Amino acid sequence: MSDPFGAEEAPPALDTAQDALFLDFDGCLVEIAPRPDAIIVPERLSAVLCALAERLDGALAIVSGRSLPELETYLSGFDGPMVGSHGAESRGLEEPPLRPEGLAALQAELAGFAADKGLLYEPKSLGAGLHYRARPELQAETEAFATRAARRFPGFEVQLAKMAVELRPRGASKDGALARLTRRAPFAGRRPVYAGDDVTDEPALAWAEAHGGYGVKVGAGATAARFRLADPAEIRAWLTTAIGGDAWDG
Ligand SMILES: [Mg+2]
Repeated sequence: MSDPFGAEEAPPALDTAQDALFLDFDGCLVEIAPRPDAIIVPERLSAVLCALAERLDGALAIVSGRSLPELETYLSGFDGPMVGSHGAESRGLEEPPLRPEGLAALQAELAGFAADKGLLYEPKSLGAGLHYRARPELQAETEAFATRAARRFPGFEVQLAKMAVELRPRGASKDGALARLTRRAPFAGRRPVYAGDDVTDEPALAWAEAHGGYGVKVGAGATAARFRLADPAEIRAWLTTAIGGDAWDG
């Protein structure tokens, strides 16, 4: 493709008889907010996901960097499989969580750094995040601090995200989660379709492209995905179309 940023086309309509659908949450199903706890979850979202999961014979999973309990709260009306913490924990898949040693000590260090520097600290069930959206000039310093922390806590590794740096369990990844999920029912044998907005999604978008399916990049930025939609509102409209629903009305 000649465009340096890859995909510009909108994705085709979902094929509910053939596709297995994997959806990121923040920035994909809901708009990014100034703080991770300030997102607005549209009222219809869980109902649309449930209806779509039914059409897909259950082959729909949420795959997010968020902690699982937060996903369960935000999508309380959706009872399908969910993968949280970048693949380190899940619901409905009978996989044991990845729980490295030193979580509490690591979280204390990151919380201390955040308090010193005026950053937003985000505790996660299996890691922690430092958000520098309010102090973008501290990006390099924050990333360097996280890199040093990962050396002291070898069970964790650095994950860069939008205006944030995270420490997540080493070995957890969204593409790894896709590889595991697509080996099992009801996902096995279906065409993997992944949608996500962030650098953390790129390996999963590339994985779907490499395994007979496709990726949908949400928003701007370079991507391995073949298709692109502008924002979560367009993603929600695309999902709603697949269940024969009306235009999204909030
Ligand atoms: Mg996201």
